[in-house]
Amino acid sequence: MMQQYMEIKNKYTDCILFYRLGDFYEMFFEDATICAKELEITLTGKNCGQEERAPMCGVPYHSVEGYLSKMISRGYKVAICEQVEDPKFAKGLVKRDVSRIVTPGTNLNTQTLDETKNNYLSGIFYSESGIGISFVDITTGDYYVTEVDTKKKLLDEINKFLPTEIICNEAFLISGMDIVDLKERLKISISSQESWYFDEEMCQNGLKEHFAVSSLDGLGLHDYEYGVIAAGAALKYLYETQKNSLSHLTHIQPYITSKYMLLDSSTRRNLELTETLREKQKRGSLLWVLDKTKTAMGARLLRNYVEQPLIDIELIRERLDCVEEINQSAITREELREYLNPIYDLERLISKVSYKSANPRDLIAFRASLSMLPPIKMLLSDFSCALMKEIDTELDTLEDICTLIVNSIDEEPPISVKEGGIIKEGYNEEVDRLRRAKTDGKSWLAELEAKERDQTGIKNLKIKFNKVFGYYLEVTNSYQNLVPETWTRKQTLANAERYITPELKELEDMILGAEDKLFSLEYNLFSEVRDQIAEQVKRIQTTAKAVAKLDVFASLAFVAERNNFIKPEMNQTGVIDVKSGRHPVVEKMINNDLFVANDTFLDNEDNRVSIITGPNMAGKSTYMRQTALIVLMAQVGSFVPAEYAKIGIVDRIFTRVGASDDLASGQSTFMVEMTEVANILRNATKNSLLILDEIGRGTSTFDGLSIAWAVIEHISDKNLLGAKTLFATHYHELTELEGKLNGVNNYCIAVKEQGEDIVFLRKIIKGGADKSYGIQVAKLAGVPDAVLGRAREIVDELSDNDITYKVKQMSDSLLDRDHSCDKAECQVAETSSQQNSAYEAKEQENAQQMTTHKAKAKNDLDGQLSFFTVDSTNQVIEEIRNLDVAHMTPMDAMNMLYQLQKQIKG
Ligand code: ADP
Repeated sequence: MMQQYMEIKNKYTDCILFYRLGDFYEMFFEDATICAKELEITLTGKNCGQEERAPMCGVPYHSVEGYLSKMISRGYKVAICEQVEDPKFAKGLVKRDVSRIVTPGTNLNTQTLDETKNNYLSGIFYSESGIGISFVDITTGDYYVTEVDTKKKLLDEINKFLPTEIICNEAFLISGMDIVDLKERLKISISSQESWYFDEEMCQNGLKEHFAVSSLDGLGLHDYEYGVIAAGAALKYLYETQKNSLSHLTHIQPYITSKYMLLDSSTRRNLELTETLREKQKRGSLLWVLDKTKTAMGARLLRNYVEQPLIDIELIRERLDCVEEINQSAITREELREYLNPIYDLERLISKVSYKSANPRDLIAFRASLSMLPPIKMLLSDFSCALMKEIDTELDTLEDICTLIVNSIDEEPPISVKEGGIIKEGYNEEVDRLRRAKTDGKSWLAELEAKERDQTGIKNLKIKFNKVFGYYLEVTNSYQNLVPETWTRKQTLANAERYITPELKELEDMILGAEDKLFSLEYNLFSEVRDQIAEQVKRIQTTAKAVAKLDVFASLAFVAERNNFIKPEMNQTGVIDVKSGRHPVVEKMINNDLFVANDTFLDNEDNRVSIITGPNMAGKSTYMRQTALIVLMAQVGSFVPAEYAKIGIVDRIFTRVGASDDLASGQSTFMVEMTEVANILRNATKNSLLILDEIGRGTSTFDGLSIAWAVIEHISDKNLLGAKTLFATHYHELTELEGKLNGVNNYCIAVKEQGEDIVFLRKIIKGGADKSYGIQVAKLAGVPDAVLGRAREIVDELSDNDITYKVKQMSDSLLDRDHSCDKAECQVAETSSQQNSAYEAKEQENAQQMTTHKAKAKNDLDGQLSFFTVDSTNQVIEEIRNLDVAHMTPMDAMNMLYQLQKQIKG
């Protein structure tokens, strides 16, 4: 046996081998040591002809799935080695082979998988000339493929689909991408495969063979040179690990990334689309508000929608019209949602059916779900919008399958497929006959029992059954003298003896023989039914997707009504006009309807950049995120939290929000901040929406202010970027830019001053804040009075050195520059060479401006430094410096403190 073990293990050296022995899976040698530790099970040993005992441990076969999931979640691959012949008929050692390899991306255990998320395996083919990516979920049959041209876009796709496992070529690992971050932060298991995995011809042939097509054109893959390699490699990996026909992978869907709104990973995180930033929980995310779906399929599809907002105005309008129509018929909507409620996860069920791992109860759940389809179909005919018509066409009521299950499978079958009780009466004559033999057998036994009781006079004689001895006659000790000699004793108990007789043995053979036959017949019939359903996989998958869509739109309609969302009006003119907009999540978190609604107006002309000032905690971040979320929701096809909304479609949303140290990757706050800014400035277009919060906060005041200023100049300049931007800042000095840079406007969040305190009004109004109210907020936060007092003094003194004045002077000079810019803008239209020279002129001008800015900033800095140089001459500080603290008593210290304070107070 150990020889057989070693032969198999040598073929799967990168896996932990679960080796089937009777009712257990056993692990040996190093595998055993690892499993004992990871699974917290006892490590034993086996004598296997070697000098030392081989370490060994095992898990029961019936609970293996839980252990498998644990091993996978720790990053291991497990090869499951089964007995491949019936031990009853085996000559010598039972043949064994690996039946399946379980890895994170190929986990089939629906009990341990989150039903509201897909479990994707990703195949990545990386090369300098192009990158292919594919995502495949074997629990649902979803299979996607695309291509990108940069590492950044590849990362965006990985963040969008969040696979649990990536298989890639070597080049991906050395591409310079942050593999450690993918592994540690996103918990993705990544392994490179040998180069033949990515052989173009082999990949093409693999796909053609799987989908039974003669050319990849038929699959829509003709333009996907790199994508085909990625998809082919993933398919190869699945065949190798699953050792199964994979018949439920019925189609592959190529997609173009530019058809969706581009959201980079930090924007996804910052906007808390599917989970919160800190706790990583769904509660508190946008999906938490939007997801009132009734089925697992709907939940997964809605998550996909939220992860991939659209940019095609017609497609968005179709979705919005659909939500509107469902909303207008509230009663039908609720009826639909009631029918959707009991529908199980058809996608995962059909995958189990294809895998032949569905049990009788799964089929009953399947049937219960299918019986909901006809009433849903009836209701669908009431709708007239394009999407509902499409859903109606795609939704097949699958009555034939439902009838098949109703007729063949018992209403309350066992989970096991080997112990009978599965097939319904009347479905198969032989099953009914064998069952009768079983019940008739009972009366034969009763007759024999009565006969023997009469003949022997043993009044309490009983015929009983157990698995070890089969049927036997049981006689208590008080009647032992009446037992005939012809009976054979089988077992002695404390107060009884057990016997068998030839007649009883004969009956037993008849009864148990019938049972064996019945069980295997039932199993065969069940498998036939399951296979018949598996043949309909395509129809079932299409219907499942239609149900998912219906569920998503019914949920969006329900959420819209519950939360007073309205239908946004979509446009391509770039105007974003929101009246009384609300933050969909924050408004739910705040009790008693206290959320203050606010307007937003942005366009591609005079209202491109809004500089938003106001103290901390005023509501700037909330306001900016709310605008981003409203736009994003609209492009997902959802109604939005506002009284009125006109949404100009944006191609990308970028956010730079808050300061979070990325210590894991060894980057400081400011470095992270600047990397994000760099990414935004390089990748945004004039059709993008930028949310920039506190740019430049992570460095010194002058650096920060200067960077923030330069960023605003760059963004607001139509020749450079010209993107729509909400820019929140503490540097209220930046409000000077309004009227001096095209398209820049000031807004602030109103606060009311009451003496030394402030009251937050949460209302956005035109105009800039003239101070930062930092000290008032510090007071609210409970900073000690002494510190607050000192801070006030410092602020007063610093104000004498007013940088606002300098900023004003500098920004005034922009007016002249902007006029020359306007001229440059006119020239741009004329010829391309002029365009270049205008651009160069502008660059030169910018460079000059920068030098002037630098010189001015240096003066300011000198001014500010001189304030601090007072320190060295300050008497109090000098005294403190000379103190011998180590030799002072607490009382001395108190006295000294008192003296010093007196001195300061003058
Ligand atoms: P800032 O970015 O200005 O520091 P935040 O946007 O973080 O402020 O808002 C601070 C808190 O104020 C939020 O957590 C929220 O509870 C509350 N808040 C923000 N905006 C509103 C609003 N419009 N109506 C009611 N409460 C709000």
